Amino acid sequence: MKYALVTGGSRGIGRAICQKLYAMGYEVLINFVSNRKAAEETLSLIEGHGELIPFDVADADAVQAAIGAWQAAHPDDYISVLVNNAGIRRDSLMIWLEAADWHKVIDTNLNGWYNVTRALLQPMLLRKWGRIINVTSLSGIKGLPGQTNYSAAKGGLIAATKALAQEVARKKVTVNAVAPGFIRTDMVEGLDEDSLKKDIPAARFGEPEEVAAVVGFLASQESSYITGEVISVNGGLYT
Ligand code: NAP
Repeated sequence: MKYALVTGGSRGIGRAICQKLYAMGYEVLINFVSNRKAAEETLSLIEGHGELIPFDVADADAVQAAIGAWQAAHPDDYISVLVNNAGIRRDSLMIWLEAADWHKVIDTNLNGWYNVTRALLQPMLLRKWGRIINVTSLSGIKGLPGQTNYSAAKGGLIAATKALAQEVARKKVTVNAVAPGFIRTDMVEGLDEDSLKKDIPAARFGEPEEVAAVVGFLASQESSYITGEVISVNGGLYT
């Protein structure tokens, strides 16, 4: 049995990634923080080939408890693919950005990455095979106004991707990132798509499956000589 963990697998891009990894033969651990109904829908879309593993990625103790319990129940197995996808945004111009919104976004999008990756890394190194794929953002590459918190978190994720990739490459563990532009999910609800798509060379928002396809490639054996990379999935919006 091959196991993959997708944080934020209940909805949007994370759900499409769960479906992709299931199609590649993985049992998928579907993480979520509060939306159990959506997570159960994802589980039924992958025909029960996985399990729900709820925790708040920002809560180090909760992450440790959930992953420790899974490992105790599966002493001979390990999670060989980790997709750090859970994320939130709390947009505001800096002048009005409240400390709580700064910390919440950093805690979820960046500290959450540390909590989950740290918990799963050692078994990958011991087994000498692993794939860590981090879902960052166009915002983390170029910075977007109104998103200093989110850009900082996603930019930090890119730097962490490159640093960790160099630490673990010898152990056949690759660490890469995908950087979506505008993808049609709950996260972009309320944005003015008609106006925004004028700036996108492909003239449309992307679909979650178009991000999941790249994640699937990075999770595969075929990507074995690619590490520390950031692949944009943004319809040509920025290169
Ligand atoms: P979404 O539809 O809002 O889904 C967010 C997912 O993250 C949900 O599964 C949610 O779980 C989970 N989540 C949020 N906070 C969490 C926490 N503290 N612990 C565990 N899980 C948590 O978002 P999306 O658009 O699919 O985004 C997925 C990733 O892509 C994010 O990292 C986002 O920053 C990135 N991204 C998205 C876009 C875009 O245009 N959509 C562009 C660039 C980057 P619940 O269902 O339980 O709430």
